[in-house]
Amino acid sequence: MLFDTHAHLDEDAFSQDTDEVLARAVASGVTTMLAVATTVESSRATIALAARFPNVFASVGIHPNYAVQAKPGDWEAIEELASSPKVIAIGETGLDRYWDHTPFDVQLDYFRRQIELAGRRDVPFIVHCRESEPDVVAVLREMAGAGQLKGIMHSFCGGRATLDAALELGLHISFAGMLTFKKNVELRELTKTIPLNRLLIETDSPYLAPQPNRGKRNEPAFVRHTAECLAEVLGQTLDEIGTITTANARRLFGLSDVLG
Ligand SMILES: [Zn+2]
Repeated sequence: MLFDTHAHLDEDAFSQDTDEVLARAVASGVTTMLAVATTVESSRATIALAARFPNVFASVGIHPNYAVQAKPGDWEAIEELASSPKVIAIGETGLDRYWDHTPFDVQLDYFRRQIELAGRRDVPFIVHCRESEPDVVAVLREMAGAGQLKGIMHSFCGGRATLDAALELGLHISFAGMLTFKKNVELRELTKTIPLNRLLIETDSPYLAPQPNRGKRNEPAFVRHTAECLAEVLGQTLDEIGTITTANARRLFGLSDVLG
């Protein structure tokens, strides 16, 4: 039983074969998926997917690389869409100094707004962090104040300091296909220091497919490979890691009662 906590199912890469992709996911043991949005249009699309498929849930939000394109009224639309049925997270948000598409102060503004909105709705926010670990940690600390946050460090590939800060602030840590790449020895070592109840798995489909599908279009069925890798590193069985990460996701997203 696996839960893919981050898949861009609304992207063009899946427009021709969504049904087949979701059928393969189920056949591979992926019982639940979170379709993650990047813009207002994408937020409407993830909500539509969640309405169409019982095992798909939705996030709404504006990705840091798309914040530059946000039009007047887009933020208000996100706030409204956040109360749609099956919306269980806000994002993806965060900071990106690698692509640098959006002026950094605009990225910071949208990051703070989405953390605040998630808090108001009592759902987790999803953090994208690329070449901006100290900045992300600074915003998280600022927004947490003396308290804790409900959020996810998505496709985590950061270092020790960022991991420790995120855990201290209450965040969950989600691993994607990069965990399986041969060179990422240190990342695999870091997983051993994370409390089991904070671990999540994801694909970040259609990007960065795990081994042995590296280079192909990624899809939710492949989250199994990341789960297998995590199981091996942590000395657990695939079943155990599936049970743990799925229970964590259900608890975090408030789905324990909904899904039974
Ligand atoms: Zn993503």
